[in-house]
Amino acid sequence: MSRRGRRSTDSLSVTVSGGSMGGLFAALALEEAGHEPTVYERSTGDLRGRGAGIVAQENVRRFLERRDIADPEAITTASSERRFLARDGDVETSRPDSMVFASWDAVYRRLRDAFPDDRYRMGREVVGVDPGTATAEFADGTDRDADLLVVAEGGQSATRRQLFPGVGPEFASYVAWRGVIDESDLASDVADRFDDAFVFFQGPRLLMLAYFIPGDDGGTAPGERRLNWVWYDTLEGRDRSAVFTDATGTVREITVPPGSLRGPVWDRQLERARDVLPPVFATVVEATPAPFVQAIFDLTSPEMVVDRVCLLGDAAFVARPHTAAGTAKAAGDAVALERDLERRDSLESALSTWNDARTEYGERLVARGRRMGDERLNLAR
Ligand SMILES: Cc1cc2nc3c(=O)[nH]c(=O)nc-3n(C[C@H](O)[C@H](O)[C@H](O)COP(=O)(O)OP(=O)(O)OC[C@H]3O[C@@H](n4cnc5c(N)ncnc54)[C@H](O)[C@@H]3O)c2cc1C
Repeated sequence: MSRRGRRSTDSLSVTVSGGSMGGLFAALALEEAGHEPTVYERSTGDLRGRGAGIVAQENVRRFLERRDIADPEAITTASSERRFLARDGDVETSRPDSMVFASWDAVYRRLRDAFPDDRYRMGREVVGVDPGTATAEFADGTDRDADLLVVAEGGQSATRRQLFPGVGPEFASYVAWRGVIDESDLASDVADRFDDAFVFFQGPRLLMLAYFIPGDDGGTAPGERRLNWVWYDTLEGRDRSAVFTDATGTVREITVPPGSLRGPVWDRQLERARDVLPPVFATVVEATPAPFVQAIFDLTSPEMVVDRVCLLGDAAFVARPHTAAGTAKAAGDAVALERDLERRDSLESALSTWNDARTEYGERLVARGRRMGDERLNLAR
C-alpha cells in the first residue's frame, strides 16, 4: 500500500505489560491483525502450575479454535446438569445445564506456546508509564516507546494505580477457599457424585461448588481429571489479616497461594467444613492437598484508555467469580481492541470506541457480580 493510503492503525508497535491470559489474548489478537506486540511479564518463573479451574466460556473456546491455538474439546471437560445438594448430601434439586470447564494452566499453556518466545520477555516489570508517548519504564532502568501500550497487569496493577490513584480493589467481605484434587485420590462413590454435573451447596452465608477439570497432564477421561472446588464463605468474625498471613509470616492482600496457608488457619476452616458442609463436600475439602484462599473483591476503573495506554482484563475491572467471566472478559477486551483498530482510521478514534464499549461492559459485569455474590452470601447492602 502506498504511504498515502496507509492508515495510522495499519501496523502498530505495541508494548504489552503483563503476560498472563489478558496479555496473551491481546498479543495474539493484535499480532494476527498485523501489529507488532512484545509482551513484558514481571514474573521470573513459569506461570504454569499455579492455576486451578475456570469456566471455558464460548468466546474463549472460539478464540483458541479460530486461531488454531488449540482444539477446545481436547482441553476441556463438560457437564450437562446443575445439581444442588441439601445439607445431608442428598440431591435437593437438579436441572439440565451445559457447562464447559478448563484448567487455567491448560489454556495459559496453549496461548503461551502460540506466541513467539523472542517477543515474550520474562522478569521485566513495568514501573511507570508516559501515556502521551506510550512509553513503558522498566524496573531495570530501561524504557520502551511504542505506538500503543496495553496494560494487562491484573487486579493489582501498579500502572492503573499510577493512572487512577485511589482506584483499587474493594473487599466484598467474604473469601473463596479453593482447591483441586486428583479424581484418582477420591473414593469412587465420592467421585461419582460429581460426574457430569456442576454441583452446588447453598448454606447460610456460604456457597460451595465443584466441577471436574482436566488433569495435570491434560487428561479429560474419567479417572484422569481433577475436581476443582470453590467455597465462598464469610470470615465469621475471623481476623482477615490473620487468615491472609502466609506460612512465612507475610501478610497477603488478595491470595494465599497453594501450599502457603498456615496450619492453624486451615485447621479451623476444616473444622468448619465438618460443621456446615454436606459430608461429600467436607470429604473433598479434607482430602485436598494444597488448598488456597483468595479475597473476593470488586474493581471498577473510571476509564480503560488514557491517551495511548489501554487497561485490559482484570487491570481495569474485576467482577466477582460468580459471573465466571474473568477469562472471557480478558479475551473479549482483546478481540474488541483488534476489531476497533481494524475498523477505525485513527488510533485515537479506535481507542475511544473501544473505551466506551468495554468500560460500559465492565461496569455492568461488576454490578452483576455484586448482586449475585451479595444475594448468594446473604449479605445486606
Ligand atoms: C498464575 C495465575 C493463575 C491463575 N489461576 C486462575 C484460576 O485458576 N482460575 C481463575 O478463574 N483465574 C485465575 N487467574 C486469574 C485470571 O487469569 C484472570 O482473572 C483473568 O484471566 C484476566 O487475566 P489478566 O491477564 O487480566 O490478569 P492476571 O491473570 O491477574 O495477570 C496479570 C499478569 O500481569 C503480571 N504483572 C503485574 N504487574 C506487572 C508489571 N508491573 N509489569 C509486568 N507484568 C506485570 C502478573 O505477574 C501477571 O502475570 C490466575 C492468574 C494468574 C497470574
